[in-house]
Amino acid sequence: MSSENVVWHNHKVCKQSRAEQKKQKPCVFWFTGLSGSGKSTIAGALEQRLFEMGHHTYLLDGDNVRHGLNKDLGFSDEDRVENIRRIGEMSKLFADSGLLVLSAFISPFRADRQMVRELMDDGEFVEVFMDTPLEECERRDPKGLYKKARKGEIRNFTGIDSAYEKPESPEITLNTAVQTVEEAVDQMIDYLLTHQIIKKD
Ligand code: ADP
Repeated sequence: MSSENVVWHNHKVCKQSRAEQKKQKPCVFWFTGLSGSGKSTIAGALEQRLFEMGHHTYLLDGDNVRHGLNKDLGFSDEDRVENIRRIGEMSKLFADSGLLVLSAFISPFRADRQMVRELMDDGEFVEVFMDTPLEECERRDPKGLYKKARKGEIRNFTGIDSAYEKPESPEITLNTAVQTVEEAVDQMIDYLLTHQIIKKD
């Protein structure tokens, strides 16, 4: 397959003008961490808070994307890379449309997260590391997946028999073993204000 005969179109309504209309600086918040570390919970609560503040957001969630766009992909290393590549491209499109994008995916490999970072313009990729210890994630086991992985019913499960590579310099680190949902959302809102992604009214 080749894209050499496909020409990129520059449209008249650009990201900058969409951003001004929406009074926010589009970017992608990339939540990465073990299953059960709180990615969906915190991204969902943050989206709700931003929505109530009048901001325009979109939440991309691992399980949902795997039911649709990426339903042809499994959990081999190769498929995980392709999963993240597609999600990265999709996140970029949503950011181009002026949104604050919340992407919640385990995304265990450093190189894949770096690939997504490089897709985005400077300052538009905000890596949010969910530094919740494995023991706590496994204690919660909200989907019963750790139990299955321990019994060998699921293979290649991140944290059990598949590696999770911690971010080296994430923009934001959260630990939901010690922070409440409220506190984690407050920390993120502080970041957004400090970096002028959103402004105080
Ligand atoms: P992930 O998306 O990383 O797999 P989830 O958000 O689906 O994680 O699951 C996290 C689980 O932990 C949920 O059942 C949530 O209710 C629970 N939980 C308990 N305390 C917290 C907290 N402080 N922050 C986030 N989640 C929490």
